[in-house]
Amino acid sequence: MTIVQLEATLLENVPLADLTSLGIGGPARYVVDIDNTVRLTNALTWATKMDLPILVLGDGTNVVVADTGFDGLVVRMNNQSVECDTDETKARVIADAGVSWDTLVECCVNEGWTGIECLSGIPGRVGAAPVQNIGAYGQQLKTTLDAVHAIERATGKSRRIAATDCGLGYRTSVFKQSGRDGWVITKVELRLERESTSVVSHHDLLRILGDRQADVAATRQAVLEVRHNKSMLLDADDRNSKSVGSFFVNPVVSALRANDIARIFADDKMPQQPAGHGHVKLSAAWLIEHCGFTRGESHGRVGLSDHHTLAIVNRDNATAKDVIAFAQRIRSRVAEATDIVLEPEPVFVGFDAPVFYE
Ligand SMILES: Cc1cc2nc3c(=O)[nH]c(=O)nc-3n(C[C@H](O)[C@H](O)[C@H](O)COP(=O)(O)OP(=O)(O)OC[C@H]3O[C@@H](n4cnc5c(N)ncnc54)[C@H](O)[C@@H]3O)c2cc1C
Repeated sequence: MTIVQLEATLLENVPLADLTSLGIGGPARYVVDIDNTVRLTNALTWATKMDLPILVLGDGTNVVVADTGFDGLVVRMNNQSVECDTDETKARVIADAGVSWDTLVECCVNEGWTGIECLSGIPGRVGAAPVQNIGAYGQQLKTTLDAVHAIERATGKSRRIAATDCGLGYRTSVFKQSGRDGWVITKVELRLERESTSVVSHHDLLRILGDRQADVAATRQAVLEVRHNKSMLLDADDRNSKSVGSFFVNPVVSALRANDIARIFADDKMPQQPAGHGHVKLSAAWLIEHCGFTRGESHGRVGLSDHHTLAIVNRDNATAKDVIAFAQRIRSRVAEATDIVLEPEPVFVGFDAPVFYE
C-alpha cells in the first residue's frame, strides 16, 4: 500500500472488504479520511482534476462492493463534532457526519431526550443516516430530522437542506436516488423532545417493556436486547452479523393484491401494516420463508442469518458474485410465487451493469 501526501493523506490500493460489514469488495484506487469541509472541498477538486469518480463511505454497513473494487477516490467523512442547545421542550442536536450513529443515540438517551431511542444499535455513521432514512422498531429518522448540511458535488457549494426537501421515504431519500453524483453530507440537524418517556409501538419492544409508555433508557436497552438476539448489532464474534442487515426492503402493495398473496399461501394471518392510500407493507422475511428458504441455510459461501431470513451473511470468504447469485435466487423464487420483485436495500458499488435481472 503506497501513501501519497496531498491535501490529506491518501491511501492507495485499499481492500474495500476491510471497510465493509459484509467483508466483501475489491480494492479502491484511493481512500482518504476527511475531518473538515475545507479538506473535503480540496479532495473533491483533486478527484475532478484527476478525472476520478468519488464514493462517499461511512462504516460500509449498507454497501455491496464489486469484487473488482472501485476505481476512484473513496472519501470517508470522519468529522466528529456535536453541538446541542435546548429550550424548555426541545433539544436541537447538530452532529457531524463522521460521528458514530449509535454513540449519538446513546448520548441523547443519557440526556433524557426522546425521538431516536428506537434507532439504537443501527451500525454506521451519522452522515449515512439520512441516505436511506434509517428506521427500526417504530421510529424513522424523518420524524426528528430538521435539516442536512451537504456539499453538492457538481458545484462544490455547501447547502443547508431542510428535511422536507430531502425526499425522505421508506428507506430512501434524494441522497440515495442521486447516487454518487449527488451530495456529500457533512452534518445533520435533529430536533428531539426533552421528555424522558418514550411512546413504544413495536410488538417486540412491548413484549419486554410491557407498556406503551417507557423510560427512554429502558427503551434503548430493550431495542439493544432485541437487536442482539437477532444479530442485528455489529459484533465481530457473531457470524450472523457479517451482513448489510436487511438485504431486501419490505414490499408495498395494494390491499387487494395483498389479499391475493395471502390466498396463494392460504394464510389469512400474513403480516401486513397499513402504508396509506389503500396500500399495505408486507414482510419480505415472511415471503422469503414462505417461498421455501429457511433461517441458517447455506448456499456455498453465503447463507441466511440463523435468526431471520432477511439478512444474507458472508459465511466463508464469499465474493460479491456469491452474494448477488444467492439474492437473485431468492428474488426469482419470490417473484415466481407472488409476482413481487423484492428490491434490495443496500447500495451497489463498482458494478458496470445492473446487478439483478427481473
Ligand atoms: C447488522 C446490521 C443491522 C442494520 N440494521 C438497520 C436498521 O435497523 N435500520 C436501517 O435503516 N438500517 C440498518 N442497517 C443498514 C445500515 O446500518 C444503515 O443504512 C447505516 O445508516 C449505514 O451507515 P454507514 O456509515 O455504514 O453507511 P455506508 O454503508 O458506508 O454507506 C451507505 C450509503 O450512504 C452513502 N453515504 C455514506 N455517508 C455519506 C455521506 N456523508 N454523504 C453522502 N452519502 C453518504 C454511501 O455512499 C452509500 O451510498 C443495518 C446494517 C447492519 C450491518
